[in-house]
Parts: sequence; structure tokens; C-alpha cells
Amino acid sequence: MIKENLSAIKSNLPESVGLVAVSKFHPSEDLKEAYEAGQRAFGENRVQEMVAKAEELREVCPEIEWHFIGTLQRNKVKYIVPFVSIIESVSSIKLLNEIEKQAAKVDRRIDILLEAHVTDEESKTGFDVDELMEAARLIATTDDYPHIRVCGVMGMATLTEDEHRIRQDFIHIRKIYEELKESLFKDKDYFRQISMGMSGDYKLAIEEGSTSVRIGTAIFGPRVY
Ligand SMILES: *Cc1c(COP(=O)(O)O)cnc(C)c1O
Repeated sequence: MIKENLSAIKSNLPESVGLVAVSKFHPSEDLKEAYEAGQRAFGENRVQEMVAKAEELREVCPEIEWHFIGTLQRNKVKYIVPFVSIIESVSSIKLLNEIEKQAAKVDRRIDILLEAHVTDEESKTGFDVDELMEAARLIATTDDYPHIRVCGVMGMATLTEDEHRIRQDFIHIRKIYEELKESLFKDKDYFRQISMGMSGDYKLAIEEGSTSVRIGTAIFGPRVY
């Protein structure tokens, strides 16, 4: 099923749009199955789970790329920094500072996305827009973050059936990206990611400019918590 689900989704994705298979709560065997079908980027939202799976799969899936997409506590940054491909859910300057510190220790440069909070929902995470701009300005204009590379923005739309609302949220996320690109990262080729769109809304996200979708349920089935 996983293989079929993957190819069905891929057939809906323009070639330029990346796919992160969100494997949280699914066992390592499922990730291996997706890997064998050609999938390389996997998204996890809990540090312990990602570390455990990375250890289990290191030998069998050597080209796997780990995307961290969840709430990241500062005291756990050190566990993922040695192997993570990208932290998509950076949502505070304190977290940035900790990533810089831990990345320096292991002498890696860590790719990140700045997570934008654009909905009215309290439960959603991410920077408020002003804070996000300030964080981006600090990274782009000071020498304080030599081990961090900002590759773009990540965001989620409101959880609703209202397509208009969802589209407005995606447009908002894209506008934040464009403003940053224009003002701070114009000559930076690596600043080119807009990570938005999940199982239920990824087609809308692509219409509004997503460069990378994060899909779990439509690949692996429902999560059992
Ligand atoms: C779980 C999760 C997804 C995937 O959600 P699905 O609806 O299962 O596709 C995408 N992004 C984030 C940040 C998530 O936590």
C-alpha cells in the first residue's frame, strides 16, 4: 500500500515540488518500505522517536534525510543536530541560539526553515510574523549564526473545511517568504523553500506556491496514537 500511495501522490506533484513523507507514529518497517520505493526525505515531530528510527535505519537506509517538523525543546536540540538534514520548525530566537551552539560543537552547518504562525489558532506553533522577520534579519545581517543556513519558511493552514480560508493562509505564508527573499536573501540561492501542504490540503498549497509538501496519512494511513 505504501508504495502505491507514494506513486499516487507523486503523480499529483509537479517535478519541482519536494515530498517529505511524514512518518511520525509509524514503525521503522513502514519507513523502510517507503525508502525502498524511492522515498528519501522523512518528517518526524518527536526527538526521541526520530533518534530511535535514525539508529534503526542507519545501515539499511543510508541515504535517508531526516526533517524535523515538530515542537523542538531546546534541551533536545543536541540529540538531532549530529544527523538531521533540516529543522523545518524553528519558532523562536532562543531555539536558533541553541541550534547554533550545538551545531558549532559538532562542526556542522544546519539547514533550517522559519515556521510562520499565520492562523488564529492558539494551538498552532511558529513565529508571529514580526518575530519571524526579526529572526531572519538577525541571521542575515549579523555574524552570530555561522552554523545556520535559512532555506525558507514553513507553515500550516487553519484546520478547516473552508478552502478559501486555507488558501488565504497559504498565500500569507508565501508572501512572508517573498518579503524575506526580496529584503534579505535576494542573492542567496539556498533560500528557496516554502514548505506547506499536508495530506488534506497539499493541492491547494501547490497552487499557492509550495515547493515542498509534508504528507503523512495519505502515504502511511491513519496514525494510532
Ligand atoms: C503530522 C504533520 C504533517 C502530516 O500530516 P498529514 O495530515 O498526516 O499528512 C505535516 N506537517 C506537520 C508539521 C505535521 O506535524
